[in-house]
Amino acid sequence: MKTLAKKDINKILSIWSQKHDVLAPTKMDNGDCIFSAFDEKAFTLDYKKPPLSPKSVFFPQSEIIFRVEKNRYNEVVAAKKALIFGLRSCDMMGIRQASSFMSRDNKDIYYQARQNAAATVVMACPKAQNETCFCTTTLSGPVAKKGFDLQLYDIGDTLLVEIGSPRGEELLTGMPLAEMEESQAKQKIDEFLQNAILTIPEVKSVIDAMNKLKDRKIAEKVWDDFGAKCITCGGCAFVCPTCTCFNVYDHQQAAGEGIRLRAWDACLYSGFTREASGHNPRASQASRLKRRHEHKLLDYNNTDIQDGLCGCVGCGRCSDYCPVHIGTLEVVKAITG
Ligand code: SF4
Ligand code: SF4
Repeated sequence: MKTLAKKDINKILSIWSQKHDVLAPTKMDNGDCIFSAFDEKAFTLDYKKPPLSPKSVFFPQSEIIFRVEKNRYNEVVAAKKALIFGLRSCDMMGIRQASSFMSRDNKDIYYQARQNAAATVVMACPKAQNETCFCTTTLSGPVAKKGFDLQLYDIGDTLLVEIGSPRGEELLTGMPLAEMEESQAKQKIDEFLQNAILTIPEVKSVIDAMNKLKDRKIAEKVWDDFGAKCITCGGCAFVCPTCTCFNVYDHQQAAGEGIRLRAWDACLYSGFTREASGHNPRASQASRLKRRHEHKLLDYNNTDIQDGLCGCVGCGRCSDYCPVHIGTLEVVKAITG
């Protein structure tokens, strides 16, 4: 198996940066870590789950999808050659699930152009990033099964390199690689996996909650109580790697000139499902929260979940960031409690 020396990683990222917009874990002054443009000084391999998944590389928070210029319609399909370094496996599964949704039925050309132009380098998770990680339950970690171009295993001073695609193979051309004997590498990966799994125990209540939802055994009061607490900030949807709701907006800029934008939206907002007549099939916050969680744990599309458990990849971000504690883990607890 190929290996890279950890001390060379800055140099390797600099080389990749010559041909790609590289996003990598970046330490902020306040100690937080985000995916940001590779900067040798701020880059770190010692990072925790960044607050936002890198879904915006393929699905920006807002983007122009066409322009009207002199009454002529011009589609805007913008895609730069990108490389996301340091994805965790839950986010890799998030990309796989979102990509399935964006490419089935009507293909989303904007998403697909960006995805085709972006390479992914996963850093297998050595341990739970914090107490809200539950990727072993959702079958999305701690190691990615597919979808990546390269996956790296940190085993000390060395990174074991798993090649996932021809593009991954190409990324390694000219890099300072060494070799580890296959059986030794396999043993190292097994040890890595066992140690990681020990720190990310299965959350059985997620399965119990899914079964209760299937059996329609949830008291409406559960949703009413959450609905009364929710402040409709939309944060749970925006941090979620598998949420892909959007709205479109037209702006006329002059006679015969204008743009159409699309921007992230959230099923927690009352305007998301309100119909032109004014009728809203999900009129209460309780019903919108119920819908969101059913979409993740009950009404997911079997193709879109890939080989995961459901429409949630267990990243725990909704539990980390909801200001009033209505993440998936809290909902599961309320359903099964
Ligand atoms: S629902 Fe929550 S835990 Fe699941 S993938 Fe989305 S943000 Fe992560
Ligand atoms: S993050 Fe919490 S408060 Fe904000 S919309 Fe989601 S459930 Fe409601």
